[in-house]
Amino acid sequence: MRYSQYFLPTLKENPADAEVVSHQLMMRAGMIRKVAAGVYSYLPFGLRSIRKVEQIVREEMNRAGAIELLMPMANPAELWQESGRWDYYGKELLRFKDRHQRDFCMGPTHEEVVTDVVRSFVKSYRQLPVNLYQIQTKFRDEVRPRFGLMRGREFIMKDAYSFDTNDEGANESYEKMRQAYCHIFERCGLKYRMVEADSGAIGGSFSHEFMVLAATGEDVVISCESCEYSANIEKAVVVDQGEVSQEPMREVERVVTEGAHTVADVSLMLNLDPQQIVKTMLVMADDQPVAVLIRGDHELNEAKIKNLLGASVLELANPEQIAEATGGPVGFSGPLGLKVPIYADNAVKYLRNIGVGGNEKDIHLEGVNLERDFQVTQFADLRNAMEGDRCPHCGGQYSNTRGIEVGHIFKLGTKYSEAMKATFLDADGKANDIIMGCYGIGIGRTVAASIEQNHDDDGMIWPMPLAPFQVLVNMLNPKDDAVREAAENLYRALLDAGVEVLLDDRDERPGAKFKDADLIGIPLNVTVGARGLKEGQLEVKDRATGEKSMLPLESAATMLQERVTSALAGV
Ligand code: ATP
Ligand code: MG
Repeated sequence: MRYSQYFLPTLKENPADAEVVSHQLMMRAGMIRKVAAGVYSYLPFGLRSIRKVEQIVREEMNRAGAIELLMPMANPAELWQESGRWDYYGKELLRFKDRHQRDFCMGPTHEEVVTDVVRSFVKSYRQLPVNLYQIQTKFRDEVRPRFGLMRGREFIMKDAYSFDTNDEGANESYEKMRQAYCHIFERCGLKYRMVEADSGAIGGSFSHEFMVLAATGEDVVISCESCEYSANIEKAVVVDQGEVSQEPMREVERVVTEGAHTVADVSLMLNLDPQQIVKTMLVMADDQPVAVLIRGDHELNEAKIKNLLGASVLELANPEQIAEATGGPVGFSGPLGLKVPIYADNAVKYLRNIGVGGNEKDIHLEGVNLERDFQVTQFADLRNAMEGDRCPHCGGQYSNTRGIEVGHIFKLGTKYSEAMKATFLDADGKANDIIMGCYGIGIGRTVAASIEQNHDDDGMIWPMPLAPFQVLVNMLNPKDDAVREAAENLYRALLDAGVEVLLDDRDERPGAKFKDADLIGIPLNVTVGARGLKEGQLEVKDRATGEKSMLPLESAATMLQERVTSALAGV
């Protein structure tokens, strides 16, 4: 491709509405153009990288035995009503009516459509297992679309769905996908972690997420420093350990804590460490109020309490609900005299003489003790894991890293097949529900995550497998005949060798061309200039390391091709 004839509109300044670096750089490097909030055009340079991720995904899916199909974006409401998600999915589901006033939605995911395909053709156990996948555009009306392709409303996803006759088979299908995902992210040249993820309260199901590691990631990944265990923060297990404090019990005392809003305020006013304070948080589990006790220095994990209660919807209570359940305002809830069920994090059972809210404006209590002053319905692991907590598998220490969720695999069980009557006849002629799994990868988010992980102050740094072009040939002065000829020859030789090359033949100042080269981040940058040519040499810069070396003119194409090949192979 010749830069002079290409469509690569770069910007000097960061666009005002781009908060994260991948979004800024994708806009500046002319990869995407915003059409509406969370809806983008993929411009030619961006599309090349998108296509590369798709290709890797497609090859690994095929290799794992999955079969490609393509399902529609427009989904009729009937299928979603059958699964029950028409009512349950909420506002992320973009609904519309056709000219006959029939309800439709834009598919945010395709369990319904694919289950309908399978149930209409699959009758016998002999037709299973099968795994169907597509690479297709999804629409989710996200509350806060942001960060460019990272959280769009319209985005490209690879979604696969497995169908098995028994649990063992379903686990095997899951395992194949898990391995395929590892191959995919390795082949993309990204540093990633597979983490155990929360799978909600569906029985027999499990789930893993694939996180591209990046300091700017939205997700917290908890990893053991000593073994392989990694989990996302929603799931990471906190070991129940400790000894009940032997402190003598004091009497309960009322303390005026006017204007206290945070644990830190209360801790100061009660003269107690945050570890001695217990927060009482009111949540609504399927519209029923429940109190959750968490130590002052810990954070409530909503997924854990939701799973413990088996609730389908769990929300923090609003001020009216808090007043109704406790008789007091927000910030002053406590366990004494509460009529609602009280669940407490394990850490709370080891405490004596704690400080809690008084269920009254500007009042806290201290010297409060479990059993004597209040009862707990159940203790459980209800808090977020933290750096330094113990690993449940090996006793090692947890550390925190940040990541971007690019893939998610999920054993679904019979949730959809049951609701939508997707059954098969077994060898005895008996009808059974098909056991399903679903497996997603965000294609655009993977490209964005790659940039979050690999960039510097000057621009992007593509890993070779995702680079829109592999080599940039910079024709320093197109008016110099020798330079022009050498650059053209190298360009043709690279094309002949199957290398993806961008020839910067623009009549621009060298400074501007080097700046653009750094911004667009093509892995190998070759400079063809008059000075080097006199010695029969070309300079090649490795964009990632900044290392420069000289190549003899006559073997330059071969040597560049070799460098591309070995970078693709991860050597
Ligand atoms: P998140 O928690 O980030 O909203 P999710 O759990 O809703 O993700 P899944 O339903 O598991 O995501 O979708 C599979 C994959 O699709 C995700 O791992 C992610 O890579 C991608 N994805 C999901 N939502 C978006 C989005 N709004 N924009 C871009 N990619 C997305
Ligand atoms: Mg989501």
